[in-house]
Amino acid sequence: MLIVRVALPVPLRQHFDYQLETDDPTHVKVGARVLVPFGKRQLVGIVWQINPVDSFNDNKLKTVSALLDPSPVLGPKLRDLLSFASDYYHHPLGDVLTSALPALLREGRLLDDEKHKIIKLTETGQKLSEHDFRRSAKQLALWQALRTNELSEAELLQNHSRTTLNQLLEKNLVELVSQPFAPFVYQREKQKALQLNPAQALAVTAVVQALGSFSRFLLEGVTGSGKTEVYLQAITPVLAKGQQVLVLVPEIGLTPQTLARFEKRFAVPMQSWHSNMTDSERLRAWQRSQSGDAAITIGTRSALFLPFRNLGLLIIDEEHDQSLKQQDGFRYHARDLAVKRASIEQCPILLGSATPSLESLYNVQQKKFSHLQLPERATSQLVPQIELIDLKQQVLKHGLADGTLAQMRQHLSRGRQVMLFLNRRGFAPALICHECGWLTECLHCSAFTTYHKQSRQLVCHHCAATRPVPHQCGACGSTQLAPVGQGTEQLEEQLGKLIPDFPITRLDRDSTRRKGSLEAHLATIQSGAPQLVIGTQMLAKGHHFPAVTLVVIVDVDGALYSSDFRAAEQLSQLLTQVSGRAGRGDMPGKVLLQTHYPGHPLLQDVIQNGYSAFARSALKERQQTQLPPYQFMAMFRAEGLDSAICQLWLSELQQICAGQMQAATPLAPAKRVQWLGPVKAPLERKAGKYRWQLQLFSPDRKALHQMLELLLDHISRSALSRKLKWQLDVDPLDLS
Ligand code: ADP
Ligand code: ZN
Ligand code: ZN
Repeated sequence: MLIVRVALPVPLRQHFDYQLETDDPTHVKVGARVLVPFGKRQLVGIVWQINPVDSFNDNKLKTVSALLDPSPVLGPKLRDLLSFASDYYHHPLGDVLTSALPALLREGRLLDDEKHKIIKLTETGQKLSEHDFRRSAKQLALWQALRTNELSEAELLQNHSRTTLNQLLEKNLVELVSQPFAPFVYQREKQKALQLNPAQALAVTAVVQALGSFSRFLLEGVTGSGKTEVYLQAITPVLAKGQQVLVLVPEIGLTPQTLARFEKRFAVPMQSWHSNMTDSERLRAWQRSQSGDAAITIGTRSALFLPFRNLGLLIIDEEHDQSLKQQDGFRYHARDLAVKRASIEQCPILLGSATPSLESLYNVQQKKFSHLQLPERATSQLVPQIELIDLKQQVLKHGLADGTLAQMRQHLSRGRQVMLFLNRRGFAPALICHECGWLTECLHCSAFTTYHKQSRQLVCHHCAATRPVPHQCGACGSTQLAPVGQGTEQLEEQLGKLIPDFPITRLDRDSTRRKGSLEAHLATIQSGAPQLVIGTQMLAKGHHFPAVTLVVIVDVDGALYSSDFRAAEQLSQLLTQVSGRAGRGDMPGKVLLQTHYPGHPLLQDVIQNGYSAFARSALKERQQTQLPPYQFMAMFRAEGLDSAICQLWLSELQQICAGQMQAATPLAPAKRVQWLGPVKAPLERKAGKYRWQLQLFSPDRKALHQMLELLLDHISRSALSRKLKWQLDVDPLDLS
């Protein structure tokens, strides 16, 4: 009889012991899945330990129902990473496992059934010649594709139709065979590498020399400086050694584009990983990682948990991007966990950005990261020049100054593209009553609802609640409701009238919702035809728009005065990233920044001195104010229908902090944890729930985490905990 300790996907911070009727300990593997009874249900769990020393069998242990895997689905390295993550974020291990395993494995799907389906020519098929296909060009093309290669069904269907495939299957010229995945075989690059400039060469050499051991690099390169070329050339020797590479990108929109660039260069199997994949696609990607078949994986944050057989290099592109942090459930930061993963795998990690996070720059200062810099654009273009347009006392046409419009027309008439950046989707941020000033508010949040003209709806961008546009004011009954402020939808409509001779492409969450529409929009822009491109944040994310020569930043004023201590960093990153979209082809670029505050120190700093200089002074400021990265931070959030209970619950926590602080001797670390709150969240009410927060700070990570343990212990015993929803966010980014 063995005792197995199992991690189960339940939101409890503990393991569960079961017995297994066998005396052969090799029968069950740590990291393998088991089916076990839990309450009235059967759950799939992961064996975490066998015969743990602190276990005992009082004959009350339940029995494992079934062993699901002959070998572990989670190897020792991934188990290390997941335990670390569970400890660091104080999140139940079972829930962490949920992030790491594809749904089909969590549901208990047996891996034996999942094989790689390959299509190849049958013996009859091999004996044929071109002449035999003279009546069907399509069949000929498919036959030719298979003459030298075996292709997976998916690969084949990228270029050939299922009908053609079925025709050849029926004639018994091709066959579908199942075979297990196997490690990829390296083949030389398809496309010659570019001649590196000296800064790039230095960066590539540094990373290549570090292969085979753990080391951390921050690649800071202005937009267009050739960071991607550095990635490509650092990857080549990794592949040559037969090792795998993981490239994390912040947005799913970036995976096809990045994948295409990598596919041009390398002749090895590649895959992407993102949230739009089906469950079976995910399982296949997971298996291709585990078997070593996938040489390069490009994916969003959870790709970090793929079970690579032999990882040689980890790259994070746009490492400053906030979407690398998971904002609900298991709130991990993919960048921080990726560094841990690299240390477990003993491989280098390369973080790249034009606008590195202050956290990473701090790590450079602390000599934890090596700093690689690409200060100039790779091609002969200059970094675009930024011109401030003072909006004070100007007559604006739909939010645009005359000077701005004149320059837009100029660039368009020269056959160039003009990009307008406005970080507000929808038609207008609210509707206002012309008679009494009443504004349309969300019924469930302390926020206004955005007017979407095309869909004739009011949409709350916080809780997604939607309702039809009212005909009358909710306060006085007047029918004179008018939009206030401007969103991308409105800008599109108005520019269509102001500058009717040029097409407009709008890129925001609404215009790219349908599958394939983002790709279609990007293709229109890539065609290079003169046009106006209007977009939100989406424009700032790594896309390459070679024909854009003028970028107009329509309105940043709202963001200049924010209570979030990260607002300045984010705004500078956004400005720099958006500006970087100008002049990436063979024409110089220009950026117009419209503002009522041209003298604002932040704008002056970024414009005159660039992001790096801004970041240096911003770090000094964080040091003076003792904010992250100079202190470690964690935050408890409480949400509920009863505001007072949320406040009370957090006060209990705050009192424990205060008590610890008093009890602490000068040497005891608890002395070093400070708190702020409980306070109402900036967004006081969301989806009908009141929101409160308690922020904790400490220069000593250990002290902070000891305090969190203490508080969590209290929470598990507090009667109030059941009356509200709470979260602990370690290293929080979103303070709203
Ligand atoms: P980033 O990722 O830093 O924004 P990219 O890698 O997209 O920059 O490079 C910008 C442009 O410069 C691309 O068109 C790329 O082909 C070109 N480029 C990069 N490195 C070189 C080089 N060493 N020589 C010539 N062109 C280069
Ligand atoms: Zn709402
Ligand atoms: Zn009114």
